[in-house]
Amino acid sequence: MMPSLLLPLSSKLTALRGVGSRRMELLSAAGFQTVEDLLWGLPYRYIDRGSITSVSDLRYGPGLDGDAVNVTLLGKIADLRQSTTRVKRMNITEALLCDDTGSVRLVWFNQPHLFRIIKPGERILVWGPLAHGRHGPEMRGPAWESFGFVNEAESDARDDLFIARFLPLYRRMGTLTGRMRQKLVALALEQADCSGVFLPSELSRGLPDTLTALRLLHNPPDECIAEDLEAGLTPAHQRLAMEELFAFALGVELRRSGRLTRRGEIIPTSVELRNKLKSFLPFRLTKAQRSAFKEIVDDLGAGRVMHRMLQGDVGSGKTLVAFLTMAMIAETGGQAALLAPTEVLARQHADTFAKLLGDERSFMRLLAGGMKAAERRETLEAIADGQARYVVGTHALFQEAVSFKKLQLVVVDEQHRFGVKQREAIKDKGLDPHWLVMSATPIPRSLALAIFGDLDQSVLDELPPGRQPARTRLLNPDQAEWAWDLVERELNNGRQAFVVSPAIDPSDETKISLRDIQAMEALLHARFQDVRITIAHGRLKSDELNARMAMFVSGEARILLATTVIEVGVDVPNATVMVVDHAERFGLSQLHQLRGRVGRGAYGGHFVMISKSENERLQALVETQDGFRIAQKDLEIRGPGEFFGTRQSGLPRFQVADLVRDRQLLARCREAAVDAVQQGLTDEQRIWLRQEQTRLKLAEIS
Ligand code: ADP
Ligand code: MG
Repeated sequence: MMPSLLLPLSSKLTALRGVGSRRMELLSAAGFQTVEDLLWGLPYRYIDRGSITSVSDLRYGPGLDGDAVNVTLLGKIADLRQSTTRVKRMNITEALLCDDTGSVRLVWFNQPHLFRIIKPGERILVWGPLAHGRHGPEMRGPAWESFGFVNEAESDARDDLFIARFLPLYRRMGTLTGRMRQKLVALALEQADCSGVFLPSELSRGLPDTLTALRLLHNPPDECIAEDLEAGLTPAHQRLAMEELFAFALGVELRRSGRLTRRGEIIPTSVELRNKLKSFLPFRLTKAQRSAFKEIVDDLGAGRVMHRMLQGDVGSGKTLVAFLTMAMIAETGGQAALLAPTEVLARQHADTFAKLLGDERSFMRLLAGGMKAAERRETLEAIADGQARYVVGTHALFQEAVSFKKLQLVVVDEQHRFGVKQREAIKDKGLDPHWLVMSATPIPRSLALAIFGDLDQSVLDELPPGRQPARTRLLNPDQAEWAWDLVERELNNGRQAFVVSPAIDPSDETKISLRDIQAMEALLHARFQDVRITIAHGRLKSDELNARMAMFVSGEARILLATTVIEVGVDVPNATVMVVDHAERFGLSQLHQLRGRVGRGAYGGHFVMISKSENERLQALVETQDGFRIAQKDLEIRGPGEFFGTRQSGLPRFQVADLVRDRQLLARCREAAVDAVQQGLTDEQRIWLRQEQTRLKLAEIS
């Protein structure tokens, strides 16, 4: 082929020979626009020919009852049927998978659509654990992949699939099947050209070039190490991961260095100011709070725009540091705004600030939904004429027609819901305030540096003195009575209780075995008959939610039953016990955050998790109270996407890189990015970076 016919990665897929309008329609419905989009969509699995077993060779695991041993089988579907169990009305799809040596029963629960998708006589590959069924070997809920129909003449069904040792499997995307993707990828690999990729030589040394790496991962040669391929640890993976991570690190570094040159308002300090701030404080700052605040004061005096992240374990006193920062602005003639993720939390912050401000509380305004028109107008006026020095609200503060007289500081409570885009929106209003971002959960240091490397970091690594850690218990569902007895004792002592139920999506397939909030409500009413219970969940209108929360805060309701973590983010010192049902449905960091809600007052608290599975993971919470250690563990178990909460996280959509697995690569990329920015990027590098940023949706990162 003539080199001049090769297509750059950024070409539209229609430029490929073999892709006409019909195929292009399928591709773009699946989200593939460019050659690069398609090629970076790697197989999700590789089946090693050697791992396929014949039915006659199946062996159960070593355990007495045949503990899960994973098997891979290839065969034809026979005897496909569907039924419903009488008890619990579960839908069951079953079939026989037959190869030349015998058959295995396949069973799927509550996936009725399978009955329509799988066809008798179809050849499929299945993998998953093997179990003892009533009628011999059985696979329950195996993963599977279809390979269509083969005619009888083709004797060995295996050979025409396994031209090479490894068979790549691609996820189906809408109507674009895995097999079609495989064919299109082959077309693209023939015609693609990967020049124009920019990676500093210290990062690419010893690794294959982009195109070689892509070829290798779409068609692994027989001599590849199966485990490395599966785990994403081949040099080819590293090459592609390095490109993603370097583009990411470069973006972060460019933002950081750009910020360093932005002039910010200098906020001067003085002895009077110091004394004034001190007069607001109800207690001595911890050492950690003092040093974090000093870092902030230095930032504000430096003449650059502050972009700082304040991290700390739950209860470490981040709010107080934020308040002091706001007070510093307010006392020197400016305005400071605090953005909370929900209205309930905004109200809580406003209450806290009102107490701290005492006689001067009239300088503070809360802008909330559901305000009367006149009150709202008055508030907006106070913000516009500068009388409101402290403004508290939700993100709506910047979406509406709110104008500030002299906004000099924005504090964001909970980083991950507030991204670059919103910050840009504020800049577009002609404002360039200082930023202080409070992170809701502790973030492991390595990751914080990598992801939020454009923010300077302050860490509160100490709790205020005299804090009693909540006593933590993990119970099986059949021990739940212990928890309700405890709740009863606390209520009898005049205390209040939180009960948390997981929010259950009605389409959830595992729902049958979960107790939802209605069931929990019934249980609580039966167990605590004369006790006032208030219920909070995500589907309530904000007025109603506020009213219900207020009932709990005032002590009128004694038990708060809630689904969402946010609603439990309130401070109610009189609440001394929290019971979390189905604790396995929550992340460790989330649970730790919840735990931080009990025992803040003088009474010491109890935190009880009820769960019948994943008890090993949850045990970590019984063993430690250190939020940073819990976060590290959570991150390792769930991965960064889940850790940060997938959608809102603003994490890049890496196709190959994994922030936990590849953290060493990331560290190298950060160093290289600092060098590259210092030397200045070439035009080519900028073009490449822009292309990568589009592909990874990097622009949305916080
Ligand atoms: P975070 O937001 O970091 O989880 P908060 O700011 O809500 O923590 O503080 C937790 C509790 O500790 C609050 O009730 C607060 O009043 C109290 N607190 C904060 N700083 C101190 C301090 N230096 N000494 C004593 N109590 C403090
Ligand atoms: Mg807080």
